[in-house]
Amino acid sequence: SNLEDENYDHFFKIIMMGDSCVGKSNLLSRYCHNKFTLEFNSTIGVEFVIKVQIWDASGHTKVRAITDAFYRSASGALLVYDVTRHITFVNTQRWLADLKNHTDNPNMVVTLVGNKIDVRQSVMVATEVGKSFAEKESLDFIETSALRATNVDKAFNELVNTIYRNLI
Ligand code: GDP
Ligand code: MG
Repeated sequence: SNLEDENYDHFFKIIMMGDSCVGKSNLLSRYCHNKFTLEFNSTIGVEFVIKVQIWDASGHTKVRAITDAFYRSASGALLVYDVTRHITFVNTQRWLADLKNHTDNPNMVVTLVGNKIDVRQSVMVATEVGKSFAEKESLDFIETSALRATNVDKAFNELVNTIYRNLI
């Protein structure tokens, strides 16, 4: 689509990061269809239209050009792991390192997302473990279920709100 044709006050690019099968695409499809317009009133009563474009990685690519394009100009990221697979939590450290190597935005907002909390009997990464890692790395933290639509809107909306608040 041609972004210049549309009216908006702010444009944010958000990227979905994390190992394959952690639920990135399902979180995204729960929330929207890749692109949406979020409207809300600021405290001074002026309505802003914020356009958010979300990029979903199909996998960890080794093609440099694609990697660069994926990270370029991103305002925020959802860094997703699967609470039932500990390795996906361990690998968030690698995703963070990759992000730091590629991002051109030092003020990037990253939310650590522990997904699949509906599978309660199989949880391998306790909430407190995720939360304390997030604190250590200065990330926001939330647990979600794309299946049950738990905290999915909240994860995206709070990320967008934080990016927006950092601007003003
Ligand atoms: P991606 O590779 O990170 O994009 O992961 P997908 O969104 O394709 O999901 C991978 C698998 O996990 C699929 O079989 C989904 O149905 C499943 N899945 C995704 N989110 C959840 C969730 O919140 N709970 C459960 N139980 N399964 C999920
Ligand atoms: Mg996917």
